[in-house]
Amino acid sequence: MIIDTHSHLYLEDFNDDILQVIERSKKAGVEKIVLPNIDDNSLAKMHNLLSLDPKLFYPCIGLHPTSVKENYKEKLDNIFSDLNDDYIAIGETGIDLYWDKTFFKEQQRAFEFQIEIALKHILPVIIHSRNSLEETFEIVFPYSQKGLKAVFHCFPGNYEDAKKIVDKGFYIGIGGVVTFKNSGLHDVVKKIPINNILLETDAPFLAPVPYRGRRNEPAYLETIVQKIEEITGLSSENIKEITSKNAIKFFNFKL
Ligand SMILES: [Zn+2]
Repeated sequence: MIIDTHSHLYLEDFNDDILQVIERSKKAGVEKIVLPNIDDNSLAKMHNLLSLDPKLFYPCIGLHPTSVKENYKEKLDNIFSDLNDDYIAIGETGIDLYWDKTFFKEQQRAFEFQIEIALKHILPVIIHSRNSLEETFEIVFPYSQKGLKAVFHCFPGNYEDAKKIVDKGFYIGIGGVVTFKNSGLHDVVKKIPINNILLETDAPFLAPVPYRGRRNEPAYLETIVQKIEEITGLSSENIKEITSKNAIKFFNFKL
C-alpha cells in the first residue's frame, strides 16, 4: 500500500479523465489520497470529488498562502465555517515568498490563525514553505512544544534544514522533486530517518522524472519510491510500508 499525502485531484486538470486517474492510482497500490485545500472556491470541487470515492479520498481544510490577500480574514471565516469532523488536517497553509511578497504580513497572520485552529481541534498541519523556510520555521517551531503535528510538504531545503525539522518532531514531505537532477534532496533522503518522511505527489504539479513537465498523478508515486530505494538502499516494499505507517500515525485516518 502507498498513501499520497498531498494531491489536488479536484482541480480542473483532471476534469476529463478523473476516473482513469483513480483507476491507475489503485492499480499502483495507492490506497489513500489526502486532499489539501487551496481557497474558498476549491472546497466545493473537493467535495464533488469526495463523493466519487469516499474511501479513497481524505479532505483537509485551509487557506493556501498564495491565496492570502487583503481580505484574508473574510476568506478564513468562509472556509472555516465548514470545519467539521470529516477533515483530517489543516492545510495547506504556510508562507510563499516565491510568487509574491506583497501580503507577507497577512500570510504570517493567516498561518498563525490556522495553526491555532489545528491545536484546538487536535489536527495536523500541512505546511507550504516555498522560498520562506526561515520565515516558516520562526512561526511554527515554537508550537512543537505545544504538541503540534506538522509536515513540511514538498520540502524545499537542504539537510541542515531537514534536521531542524526532524529534531522538532515534524515531518518532511517528499515527492517528484527527489527525482530531479541537483534537487539537493539526495542528501536529505539519505540522512534523515525514514520515520519522518511522508510520500506525496502534489498532483497535478511537480511530476517525477520521466514525466517531468507533464501532469502529475498519484500512480507516479511508484517512481518516487524507486528513487528513494536507489538513495537509501531500503527495499521499495519497506519504504511503502514505513511511509504508510508514518502517514497513518500523522493523519490518524478514520476508517
Ligand atoms: Zn499543494
